[in-house]
Amino acid sequence: MRKLSILGATGSIGVSTLDVVARHPERFEVVALSGHRQIRKLAGQCLSCAPRYAVVADDAAAGELRALLAGRVGTEVLHGIEALEFIASLPEVDTVMAAIVGAAGLRPTLASARSGKRILLANKEALVMAGGVFMHEVHAHGATLLPIDSEHNAVFQCMPVKGRAGVRRILLTASGGPFRSSPLDALDHVTPEQACAHPNWDMGRKISVDSATMMNKGLEVIEAHWLFDTPAESIDVVIHPQSIVHSMVEYVDGSVLAQMGNPDMRTPIAHALDWPHRIDSGVSALDLAAAADLVFERPDFARFPCLALAFEALRAAGGAPTVLNAANEVAVSAFLERRLGFRAIADVIAATLETLPDQPARTLDEVFAADAAARAVAQRIVEART
Ligand code: NAD
Ligand code: MG
Repeated sequence: MRKLSILGATGSIGVSTLDVVARHPERFEVVALSGHRQIRKLAGQCLSCAPRYAVVADDAAAGELRALLAGRVGTEVLHGIEALEFIASLPEVDTVMAAIVGAAGLRPTLASARSGKRILLANKEALVMAGGVFMHEVHAHGATLLPIDSEHNAVFQCMPVKGRAGVRRILLTASGGPFRSSPLDALDHVTPEQACAHPNWDMGRKISVDSATMMNKGLEVIEAHWLFDTPAESIDVVIHPQSIVHSMVEYVDGSVLAQMGNPDMRTPIAHALDWPHRIDSGVSALDLAAAADLVFERPDFARFPCLALAFEALRAAGGAPTVLNAANEVAVSAFLERRLGFRAIADVIAATLETLPDQPARTLDEVFAADAAARAVAQRIVEART
């Protein structure tokens, strides 16, 4: 029986995780859940899984959740960042689903690494902002890192069981998002609703905007660098609008291994949840004849400057990925709040990287300092434009 903490249970990944878990009550037990402000949704999840702990943002949210659960389930309600770290490192928990969005997920995900857990990593921002520190903790404490991001989960499945012998390149596929072929000047008038309407995947708002700018793929290039210990030069992005091939690994003999499936996050979640065993995910079988034409194209870096910025940040190393991630989070929130235009997202990130070229990120303190500095600079740039 695997005992789980699910960080970010109320989000898109959290809900898909609970869906897979509910199909296998004999294999999984939910010990702890976290949600941030969606208290009614979290209350419903607590009523159906009866976890020992539930964690929310603050005291007011905790009061609200306690009132909803009173007399119905014995879940202990906690709040704040220390409580997230606590449920990420509980001795009785062996597996942590890290599905909080953004930099907010770093501390709890690190806590799960330091306590040697099996970490199901959806929270790519944690790895982008603090890759060196994070991977050090994973290795030092014998944690097991299993990728949930569909591309990285696909790469993981196509890699040799041990080592990297014979691997030449990682090919990350990208759908190209909703604006792959829209006229460039139409991008100036894109609304948050249009940016969040992804053609293939149903996801949270932040990652949906990242997919529309292709910063999501940029973050994933950096994520792949850390997960698979692979330099930027050996990671390529391939546009594949159907999202059936989730990524590929090319070997020196010319073989290219691909992992395919319907675009549904329950497949990588199920794969990681019980790895190395295979379990039913609830995802329907892939109908290859219906999928028919699978198209592959080169990415257009001029249309998607965020992708180029991410490659540059990875090559620059040091704190550049931390700055890139923080500036992106600030710019995406401003866009979602209609304070910034869609194409200005890349401008804000580029200007922040130019303002802060040499941030170190060797320690956690340096990572947080670079993150804070980048947020302040990006915020000023956003305000100056409005
Ligand atoms: P979401 O917005 O749907 O959910 C985010 C979760 O994080 C919610 O449970 C929310 O309560 C919690 N949260 C938000 N802010 C928080 C804070 N400050 N402190 C604590 N908790 C907070 O997001 P999502 O789409 O589920 O994505 C989650 C993560 O998984 C992201 O890092 C995303 O990049 C990654 N991911 C998502 C998908 C997908 O299909 N949705 C695919 C690959 C990777
Ligand atoms: Mg992905």
